[in-house]
Amino acid sequence: MKRDYAVIGLGRFGGSICKELSSEGMQVLAIDSDEDKINEFKNIASHAVIADSTDEATLKELGIRNIDHVIVAIGDNIQASILTTVVLTDLNIKMITVKAQNDYHEKILNRIGANQVVHPERDMGKRIAHNIISSNILDYLELSDDYSIAEVKAGSKMSGKTLIDLDIRAEYGCNVVAIKQGKDINVSPAADEVIKGDDILIVIGADKDLSRFEKHLV
Ligand code: ADP
Repeated sequence: MKRDYAVIGLGRFGGSICKELSSEGMQVLAIDSDEDKINEFKNIASHAVIADSTDEATLKELGIRNIDHVIVAIGDNIQASILTTVVLTDLNIKMITVKAQNDYHEKILNRIGANQVVHPERDMGKRIAHNIISSNILDYLELSDDYSIAEVKAGSKMSGKTLIDLDIRAEYGCNVVAIKQGKDINVSPAADEVIKGDDILIVIGADKDLSRFEKHLV
């Protein structure tokens, strides 16, 4: 049977991914070395098995090579997370997403061939911090160490003004790449378009420039 995804490690993060994928109708193979976790997920995932994912033979027996995308969500046991990732790269899995516990772990995972490394606690912490600074910052997505994209509610400071009036590129070195208005999203906003208070601006820039923008305009 073809399964769409495998989730290894059913802690808070992996468990949540498994539940969400399953509720979206995806076929999910759930793997954990802990029997209690497997009992918890046997009626949620299409298939849930007790297994040690650092064991290549076991993963092969489970047919992991037929799965295009495997998510490794082993948290505290960094060694098991790294070994599992090595096994998966050896088995030529097309897409391997791994949760990193810290920056060193992230570096190693990138080196050994993980296709996508996620750092949920750190990223969520950053997003929430920006939202705490200003409730108009709806989301904050890191693109690299120095660049990010912010989703910003226009609010009273920008309402009634145009992008020409605000001159965001010259003043703050940031680019407004899109404006969301309700359900519509305008991906090439005109410079003379009048911004409304509840519009949402998608702004890209260097973190230091976004920070100045946030302090003055948000
Ligand atoms: P979180 O921080 O997301 O809650 P945890 O570290 O609590 O993550 O959970 C990780 C899960 O991974 C646990 O359920 C644990 O049993 C499982 N796990 C750890 N090592 C292995 C392994 N070698 N093979 C399979 N599952 C593992």
